[in-house]
Amino acid sequence: MHVAVIGTGIVGTCTASWLQRDGHRVSFFDPLPPGEACSFGNAGSLSPSACLPVGMPGMVKRVPQWLLDPLGPLTVRGRYAPAVLPWLVRMLRHSTREEVTRIATALRSLLEPIFECYDPLLEQAGAQQLVRRSGCLYVYSSREKAAQWNWGMNLRRSLGVEMVDVGQDELEALEPDLKGRFRFGIRAPENGSTLDPSALVKALHAHCVAQGAASVRQAVTGFEREGRGARQVTAVRTADGQRTPVDGVVVAAGAWSARLAAQLGSRVPLETQRGYHVTVRSSNLQLRHTVMAVENNLMVNPMAMGLRLAGTVEFAGLKAPPRYERAQALLRLGQQLFPHLDTSDTTQWMGHRPCLPDSLPVIGRAGAADNAWLAFGHGHMGMCMGASTGREVAHLVAGRATQVDLAPFSPARF
Ligand SMILES: Cc1cc2nc3c(=O)[nH]c(=O)nc-3n(C[C@H](O)[C@H](O)[C@H](O)COP(=O)(O)OP(=O)(O)OC[C@H]3O[C@@H](n4cnc5c(N)ncnc54)[C@H](O)[C@@H]3O)c2cc1C
Repeated sequence: MHVAVIGTGIVGTCTASWLQRDGHRVSFFDPLPPGEACSFGNAGSLSPSACLPVGMPGMVKRVPQWLLDPLGPLTVRGRYAPAVLPWLVRMLRHSTREEVTRIATALRSLLEPIFECYDPLLEQAGAQQLVRRSGCLYVYSSREKAAQWNWGMNLRRSLGVEMVDVGQDELEALEPDLKGRFRFGIRAPENGSTLDPSALVKALHAHCVAQGAASVRQAVTGFEREGRGARQVTAVRTADGQRTPVDGVVVAAGAWSARLAAQLGSRVPLETQRGYHVTVRSSNLQLRHTVMAVENNLMVNPMAMGLRLAGTVEFAGLKAPPRYERAQALLRLGQQLFPHLDTSDTTQWMGHRPCLPDSLPVIGRAGAADNAWLAFGHGHMGMCMGASTGREVAHLVAGRATQVDLAPFSPARF
């Protein structure tokens, strides 16, 4: 088949890589170069342990306090509040213990095979050096504080995630830079990360192109459909007015996917949770693990270009300009947690996470077309789930049985 892959983020490039391995001809469509949207500046963690949704039990009590702080971990921009309120209510409805257990079980099914699904793609693209498997440390100011997160940690354990308690002495021996603020940790030894998420996407894309994929630098605006009930997509239309005949299509356009999915008969409540990073290029820390400062909602990852401090959730839609005070707040937090960090040279960034209210992505056939598949909405975990999503989409396109039960990710669930 000749398959159009719409979007060259991590999800689109992984999907294209898996489709090519099945012998399909791929054409990418994206107005941006590969790995320049949300897949550019994320924290790069590749975490089989990251199976908890955003909406956790008890969150409803903390949200009002967060919302009042414009630089807090979760904020809604004033003018956007009416538009996003129903979505937030929906997210909170998914935060009961029963729902969180169901969601975590589904997420874990895509997260457990992270490396099994990335390894063949990295190997064929010669990009193994961009991924390391050095583990993640969830760190806390004390063991007592950590107890507040016990329910979620135990849920992870019950789903087979290896989590090892680390006392203060061992923590300081493992990561001397954590000395001072952090007195207790939980190590997830199976976790890994990428040294450069954008470079990883670019390497996968370049390999696909070297193997014959076309890469069209245009936004897709619509589809031509034929056949009984118009259920066959026969061509994609692009912003320059061109049409490209195709035998199938995968929508992997991240936070911008909803309009395309709707044209293919699937209405999904896709929202963007904007996140920020500061990359400290002058970092003098010697961290070997990715570090999650749980009480501060801050992810810290030593990368090729410096130390990346990333996090926060801001609801302000796709069009509002970035509010870089939020990135600066991340930097100040980093300076508090690591007083010896050299912050003389930094860069900042904002990205649009594609999110559904149940924190699960959409993976499956589009409602009104038999040869169109949807793969978006990976929220806070798109790097983690990109390769396994791609493998599963390739199974769907081939008409094979999937390796993961895709029912929880169905586009029809809303
Ligand atoms: C601060 C922050 C930290 C994060 N940390 C992590 C982490 O540590 N680990 C992790 O797993 N995830 C993390 N994430 C989430 C992760 O970055 C995203 O889930 C992931 O990048 C989404 O990938 P994607 O391919 O779906 O979308 P994107 O990378 O956004 O790609 C979508 C592409 O579609 C293109 N597009 C849009 N409309 C069209 C159209 N009409 N036609 C053609 N192309 C179109 C866009 O130009 C874009 O290139 C983080 C996110 C943020 C913001």
